[in-house]
Amino acid sequence: MSVGQKLYEGKAKILYSTDDLDVLLTYFKDDATAFNAQKRGSIQGKGEINCAIASHLFKLMEKNGIPTHFLDRTSGNEMRVRSVKIIPLEVVVRNIAAGSLCQQTGLKLGTILNPPLVEFYLKDDALGDPLITVDRLRVLDPASANQVDQLRSMATRINSVLQSFFEQCGITLVDFKLEFGTDSQGRLLLADEISPDTCRLWNQAETDPDRRVMDKDRFRRDLGNVEDAYRQVMERVLEQTV
Ligand code: UDP
Repeated sequence: MSVGQKLYEGKAKILYSTDDLDVLLTYFKDDATAFNAQKRGSIQGKGEINCAIASHLFKLMEKNGIPTHFLDRTSGNEMRVRSVKIIPLEVVVRNIAAGSLCQQTGLKLGTILNPPLVEFYLKDDALGDPLITVDRLRVLDPASANQVDQLRSMATRINSVLQSFFEQCGITLVDFKLEFGTDSQGRLLLADEISPDTCRLWNQAETDPDRRVMDKDRFRRDLGNVEDAYRQVMERVLEQTV
């Protein structure tokens, strides 16, 4: 496989074409951003760590019958993925209240959400990725009604699989964000990544609300030891065979 031209550079990843039209190469960067890219920095080794974690978790999904864009990991920072048209929605699943949910609703940090909350945000940096309602979804039409139903049920299934997987790692899955796309045959596939950049993960061995954080909140909130935390997640994830 030869690597072609750069197709897109995002905040954390670069997409390249390959000699196969249906296959792209994703390169995971060390760059980190938060608060809609108002805060920028770099987490040493993050690219490789997130590529390793995401590859492992995509394999876990496939094994559990959830179709993904993942093909294989080709080097430390790189994975081959099926080319998809990304649906401009961020699907957030929450098991425990944190982040914007607490800020916007006043719910106390740590409130258990059972059944889990599934939310849709419009993927639009210029608008600040606004939370949207089901009625707004109908007006804006970023996905068909049938696709929205499918996104909700896939996100719920993904949550069940991920929750029990992270439980085995001694990690509580607080919340996470997913993106989906459609391939050349119109199949809906899980895309983007699942990593400490896109999940809130709490170390079950720690009770202190800052010390337990193993995800991008360490970077967002300047808690320090960001790389160590990401590395610990990777080690625990890779320990579990899938
Ligand atoms: N998230 C993400 N990308 C985004 C927004 C959110 O990966 O653009 C993830 C975030 O890491 C967390 C979950 O989605 O695991 C819920 O984020 P929230 O809405 O609480 O927003 P935040 O507190 O990050 O502003």
